Amino acid sequence: MTSIQHNLQQVRERISAAAAKCGRDPAEITLLAVSKTKPQSAVEEAIAAGQRCFGENYVQEGVDKILALGNSALEWHFIGPLQSNKSRLVAENFDWCHTVDRLKIATRLNEQRPADLPSLNVLIQINISDENSKSGIMLEALSELAKEIALLPRLTLRGLMAIPAPEAEYSRQLAVCQQMAEAFNALKKDYPAVDTLSLGMSDDMDAAIAAGSTMVRIGTAIFGARDYSAAHNNN
Ligand SMILES: *Cc1c(COP(=O)(O)O)cnc(C)c1O
Repeated sequence: MTSIQHNLQQVRERISAAAAKCGRDPAEITLLAVSKTKPQSAVEEAIAAGQRCFGENYVQEGVDKILALGNSALEWHFIGPLQSNKSRLVAENFDWCHTVDRLKIATRLNEQRPADLPSLNVLIQINISDENSKSGIMLEALSELAKEIALLPRLTLRGLMAIPAPEAEYSRQLAVCQQMAEAFNALKKDYPAVDTLSLGMSDDMDAAIAAGSTMVRIGTAIFGARDYSAAHNNN
């Protein structure tokens, strides 16, 4: 077994264990394999091990992999900060965008989504606990932005995403994740297509699952540590 195969199996087991601990069905939780900075061969190894959903942070790097692999059975998620001048590449190549945090980006994605593709699945990014981050909106601004996005026909609002500030203590991770889950459950009531809470990375996955995450984004635990000097010089 290659190490990516082995790592994937371990991560899946960790998801199942975390789900079992809080009485959830592990099938409710999608594993997004975050392949940023990793070569196509690493993605191919993960595909061979049964992985289908991949997350990329850098637009051009992601598009290069999507086109090179040309595999329509895969699902590609854009999870990085998105500048307006890169929105077209996301609209034309990805299946999901997790980082919508302003109407301007949503409007561009809607206009640029090709007519022959299904609508782009989008998540609104919430800045739930990170004072230093410029990404994501405050929870107070959610209902307004959700209302506007729901009117855009080439987008489907599927839910919420957050990157909580690193926090060592489980109980504090859980408290932040529960705030996200509360907002997610409220949003679901207003928008029937909402079914996705993208929350949980390698270090806070257990708390995220206990709170109700439906999608965890895992990179290092699957592909190993990243070398930022080599890749993505062209965001
Ligand atoms: C890089 C990244 C991840 C994966 O992080 P790891 O610590 O490698 O598991 C998840 N989500 C986002 C938004 C990321 O940028």
